Amino acid sequence: MSEFGDASMTKRVLVTGAGGFIGHHLVKDLVNKGYWVRGVDIKRPEYEPSPAHEFELLDLRRFDNCLIATRGISEIYHLAAEMGGIGYITAFHAESARNSSMINIHMLEAARLNEVDRFLFSSSACVYPQYLQESPKVANLKEEDAYPADPEEGYGTEKLFMEELCRYFYEDYGIDTRVVRFHNVYGPLGTYEGGREKAPAAICRKVALAPDGGEIEVWGDGEQTRSFMYIDDCVEGIYRIMRSDYPHPLNLGTDELVTVNQLVDSVAEVAGKHIIRQHDLSKPQGVRGRNSDNTKLRQVLDWEPQMPLREGLVPTYGWIESELKKAGRIPEFASQSST
Ligand code: NAD
Repeated sequence: MSEFGDASMTKRVLVTGAGGFIGHHLVKDLVNKGYWVRGVDIKRPEYEPSPAHEFELLDLRRFDNCLIATRGISEIYHLAAEMGGIGYITAFHAESARNSSMINIHMLEAARLNEVDRFLFSSSACVYPQYLQESPKVANLKEEDAYPADPEEGYGTEKLFMEELCRYFYEDYGIDTRVVRFHNVYGPLGTYEGGREKAPAAICRKVALAPDGGEIEVWGDGEQTRSFMYIDDCVEGIYRIMRSDYPHPLNLGTDELVTVNQLVDSVAEVAGKHIIRQHDLSKPQGVRGRNSDNTKLRQVLDWEPQMPLREGLVPTYGWIESELKKAGRIPEFASQSST
């Protein structure tokens, strides 16, 4: 029996975005906890099969598909979204905001019609105002800082609207909503190339492909700051927030602030390589600094993410390096990663 009781044995839950990075890890965790899990996505997980009891390929921009996805379900972990790293969300405002709005509005309404008890929405630190993130030495962002609003164009604006929609559905229809603002998540089995990858995965790939003493391209001057949360902490946090009785937005991230240059150096250290950083100032770097204030998270959950970045990079780098080796892109003798 889990520490949250044995209701898990009978509950039917839906994970949308179950073919994606966080969704796939979450499905594995919920199945292990004894839930009956339906996974839905427009694609299957790329790197290993899903253990979901049912996996349906559905385009959730369509309302009829959202009704199919939510039938007979008591709790929804809604992670499907049109997203990517800073390169993607900076370049495709319309595509990202349009597709995610369609998915989100239809999913929430389908959840209402199918009388779902709980609905967890995966929001983002991109909802926070840009005017609070102009220096690398930022003040940690508290939940109430989201207003007056000035979110990341497209992706962040859409997330902020959906947060409000969750509140309206909670107040007007009594759907028990949860809103989680993720701060950068990384770990094995995440996209690491193709344009949608995020900074830790992109840097692991570049370092893995570089020779010892080689150069890698870093976007911006590398002095922009962020915090990074390991995937196992993310999944645990999502579950704890779903089980809590807190209906308002909550940060989920670490408050270990690092510069992107420090992130590169940590990856290089894990790889056991000396790496020279080549900064490309023409590339997007996002906000100048961002960190999570975990005061409310600790109050609500009596818990916060645990994994130090340097430790979480070991399995992450190891997995990306092994994928590149499998693809024949790194000769066996070139590998030197440390544990
Ligand atoms: P991901 O891109 O790996 O997963 C999202 C999934 O949604 C993908 O598998 C995609 O195929 C699916 N999807 C997109 N359009 C769809 C559609 N029309 N119908 C059905 N499925 C569709 O991203 P992720 O990193 O796993 O992120 C999951 C959630 O967390 C997203 O809502 C994202 O905005 C949020 N988030 C993630 C991070 C992070 O660092 N990874 C940070 C902040 C917020």
